[in-house]
Amino acid sequence: MFALSKILGEDKARQDPLVVDYRKRIACFFISFRVIILSIMARIICVTNQKGGVGKTTTAVNLSYYLAKDKFRTLLIDFDPQGNATSGLGVEKNQDNFGPTMTDVLLKTAMIESVIRPTKYKNFDLAPTTPELANAEVEITTQPKKFTRLRDAVGRIEGNYDYIIIDLPPSLSLLTVNGMIASRYLLLPVQTEFYALEGVAQLLESMKLVMKQANPNLKLLGVLATMYDKRTSLSAQVYNEIKKYFKQLTFKTTIPRNVRVAEAPSHGVPVGAYDKFSKGAKAYKEFTRELEERTK
Ligand code: ATP
Ligand code: MG
Repeated sequence: MFALSKILGEDKARQDPLVVDYRKRIACFFISFRVIILSIMARIICVTNQKGGVGKTTTAVNLSYYLAKDKFRTLLIDFDPQGNATSGLGVEKNQDNFGPTMTDVLLKTAMIESVIRPTKYKNFDLAPTTPELANAEVEITTQPKKFTRLRDAVGRIEGNYDYIIIDLPPSLSLLTVNGMIASRYLLLPVQTEFYALEGVAQLLESMKLVMKQANPNLKLLGVLATMYDKRTSLSAQVYNEIKKYFKQLTFKTTIPRNVRVAEAPSHGVPVGAYDKFSKGAKAYKEFTRELEERTK
């Protein structure tokens, strides 16, 4: 096509119906190719912010729940030694014969296939973790390929899922770098409070470094404002600040501060299963739809 437009001259080539038809066909080919690729490869999304308690795990659990409800085959990987996503889904971390976990995957003592277990929700699988993940992180610091262990593991099973969500710890650690290298998208939840954007610049720097050195395909999927309190002007101010900085990358949906969202993990369920009519559940459902649109 390039050569043809050179021979005809750019303008002529642009008008020639044959060339136009040819271009359309090529465009169609690339679109179908992308659809095929997307249908065989999972959208892998890490949920990260090195600031603690901003709603990463809450977002990872509830996003996974609603993706699965929308009939997407979804895997949630708990890659935080706190194991909040694991316990938030009612899996008791301290029971005997718990079986292999993400700790074993990091240590390469088990395959990820043996770690994944179904949740009580259709289309929704969980790869749980235990607090020992923190020891494993220290143990592998001197070992080879320490940054790509999660990517290698996820590569084995990504064909089985439409979405893989990775919940990461509140630090820029080896676990977080593993998460970024394994992912296609980075989702950044930001709490609408004072100092909300503190540390975000550093996180974006780490992301750039990962893109440069290990994963050029990594993309910032968007910024989600969490624990939004419409009674205070501070939430609105912070949200506007986020929009000013991240522009169209800011999700339109905001997650309200809602007591049902906070209660749900103590019952070992996502908020949608706990009280689907609550404001928090409705917001997570809406956010999930927005995310689905962005990752089409
Ligand atoms: P960490 O950095 O420790 O991993 P995190 O970023 O994963 O924390 P969460 O554990 O999701 O944050 O949330 C922190 C606390 O805030 C939890 O007790 C959670 O139940 C509560 N919480 C999260 N989102 C909301 C919300 N929208 N409304 C009310 N409480 C919330
Ligand atoms: Mg968490």
